[in-house]
Amino acid sequence: MEVDGSTIYSLAARHIYTVSPSPFSRLFHLSKLVTMPLSRHIDANSVIESCKDHPHKQHLNTHSQRARATYHQSWSRDSGADVPKYTMPKNGIPSKSAYQLLHDELTLDGNPTLNLASFVQTWMPEEAEKLIIENMNKNAVDLDEYPACQVIHNRCVSMIADLWKAPTATQAVGTATAGSSEAIMLGGLALKKRWQSALTSANPPRDPYHPGPNIIFGANAQVALEKFARYWDVETRLVPVKAKNDFIMDPRDAIKLVDENTIGIIVIMGSTYTGHFEDVQLMSDLLDDLQKRTGIDVPIHVDAASGGFFAPFAYPNYKWAFDVPRVHSINTSGHKFGLVYPGLGWIVWKDETFLHKDLIFELHYLGSVEYSYTLNFSKPAAPFIAQMFNFLNLGFDGYRKIALKGLKNARLLSRALEGTYFTVLSNVHKPASPPAAGAAGLVKKAADVLYDEEDPERYQRGLPVVSFRLSDEFMKENPNIKQEWISIMLRAKGWIVPNYGAPPNEEKTEMLRVVVRETLSEDLVERLIADILEVTEGLMGMSPSQSPFGNNASGSFVVSSSSVWDDDVEGDEEEFYTVSPSSPPMVLCASEPPSFKSPVVPYLPTPSPSPPLSTPTPFYARNPTTLHNPLTTIITFLTSLPSSITSTLVSSYHAIHTATADPRTIIPIFQSGLASIAQFASSFIFYLTLPFTSSNLNPTSTSTSRSIHDSSYPMTSILNKRFFASPQTAGDAKDIMTASLAASSAA
Ligand SMILES: *Cc1c(COP(=O)(O)O)cnc(C)c1O
Repeated sequence: MEVDGSTIYSLAARHIYTVSPSPFSRLFHLSKLVTMPLSRHIDANSVIESCKDHPHKQHLNTHSQRARATYHQSWSRDSGADVPKYTMPKNGIPSKSAYQLLHDELTLDGNPTLNLASFVQTWMPEEAEKLIIENMNKNAVDLDEYPACQVIHNRCVSMIADLWKAPTATQAVGTATAGSSEAIMLGGLALKKRWQSALTSANPPRDPYHPGPNIIFGANAQVALEKFARYWDVETRLVPVKAKNDFIMDPRDAIKLVDENTIGIIVIMGSTYTGHFEDVQLMSDLLDDLQKRTGIDVPIHVDAASGGFFAPFAYPNYKWAFDVPRVHSINTSGHKFGLVYPGLGWIVWKDETFLHKDLIFELHYLGSVEYSYTLNFSKPAAPFIAQMFNFLNLGFDGYRKIALKGLKNARLLSRALEGTYFTVLSNVHKPASPPAAGAAGLVKKAADVLYDEEDPERYQRGLPVVSFRLSDEFMKENPNIKQEWISIMLRAKGWIVPNYGAPPNEEKTEMLRVVVRETLSEDLVERLIADILEVTEGLMGMSPSQSPFGNNASGSFVVSSSSVWDDDVEGDEEEFYTVSPSSPPMVLCASEPPSFKSPVVPYLPTPSPSPPLSTPTPFYARNPTTLHNPLTTIITFLTSLPSSITSTLVSSYHAIHTATADPRTIIPIFQSGLASIAQFASSFIFYLTLPFTSSNLNPTSTSTSRSIHDSSYPMTSILNKRFFASPQTAGDAKDIMTASLAASSAA
């Protein structure tokens, strides 16, 4: 039976999710499905369900087939989980089982350290975690009960206001929020209220509903800004951005959109696309000028979600905050460069008068009054306690050190990319001023030597973000390569590096982006560079028919493993499967009875001869924490492969599922096969073996022959054993391999 990648998917899914194999009758429903691309036509749940139903019904538990599909089937040595997935269980399961179930499921998530798509902090010191745990049961709104929390909160606001150069003459006010998004809602609402009250108190009063308020920001804005406008009925006036302008708002374009109903302009300190800072000072100057000419007075809110805790440390003299007169309010995310775990934002107003009284709620307690201006009532206190921990622990210098390290690593990455196949769109590696010509240039160059090369002021300002795309020359030489493949292939190596279109107006430009957070060490950057280059070079010179993800690829897989199926073959199926009746129903273990050595597998391409197994590749020793959603990877890779690749993969798949107990024996096939895809293929194998082991990479785990037939026994252990248990000798493996090859060519 020829099937495409989706069947492989279902096979993989079976191995992962079920213990009992399924009957062929159900599988053959599948054959109708498998001619269609997985992404559009196959309902994974029904595939999985159809694969679950197998004659070995004695292994099923008491639930009906239908119900079974919606049950969690997890494992735990103390007691397995057996609870409905979509309705609340009537009776609970032991805490250990609940833990194991969720813990295992969550291992499918990407690895946060390698998630270079996110600005959000993924690490805090142990002491911070201790404080968080000690205080995570405290609700910040309970002022009487937790006055110390309130004091710490207020001290945070005070430190942040000072960091942002709030003048001492005015009374700055602020609050913690769930993140920048909530903070932007509050900042925007304050602008709207201010505008409304100006209208109603005008003489004669103007109607605040017709034509209604508008707000201006760049097309590069984060979604939270548009959310504010839509949620609070404010017209969005999006300033188009241009590639030549670094994909950020040009204040000269923004000013053209202002009218008397503009409640404010949001200037972004740290564009999410490229890390560039928009020019707050220029915006303020232009608005001053506008006011002089027209009397229209428009304030600025700065969205400093990322820049708020970065610019003050990296560029202490840069004017963007409350030292720019028109800036009324600033938001930031404590959980980005504030270096706190997710769940914390801040907003500060330069002067309490910028906050309309209607927005402030008085909370009276113990004879004193506290003011509250938030969208949420209850809120955890732990995040801002963790923020204060950072303030105390790092201090200004500590934050600065981390900022400089991030910029340094961003420069390293940028230069490596620019020196090879890429064009870098972010700017923190570019000199602040272009080198002067002639003698002046030479003098400057000489002087530069004396400067501190790590001083960020020597380079253009921005967040430690590296946005890049394949260079024009590269694209000319390799017109068939899609940039997004790099992102997909990097994902197979564990890295999460998004590839996305530039903001509206320039969306045809695609960019890859790496956020250089504290946890992306120089060591990791070096690995990342090596992996980006390896992946890119792996794609070079591909013809359209070879492209790993191309549209014209015709994928087909041969389902080969007799051991996967049982002996309940009926009717037509026999034409496709000749199954050794004595082979175990599902998994072949190297140490199982010898029956597994005689699989009869028709319709298989003959694998290329296997070279001697001299140097076992120790890839089973990979660190499990670098693993991430293997299933997605398999699906992505397999759904549309060209046949040259599939035949190699099929050989490997065959070998894995029929005879070979050790993935090491597979690798030579790849090496002798298509050299250019060897790396790709080995990662396929790696991922194929991964799902079985990601929850438990214990190489000493053993299982018994009986356990294979025991539906309650964890699949993971069985497969662990198969791939990771007491290593057989290379000689053994070779024998098995040879036997398998002989068997398949005989067939
Ligand atoms: C991240 C981000 C936001 C949203 O912040 P959250 O803290 O995730 O709510 C808004 N604006 C910009 C520029 C951002 O980078």
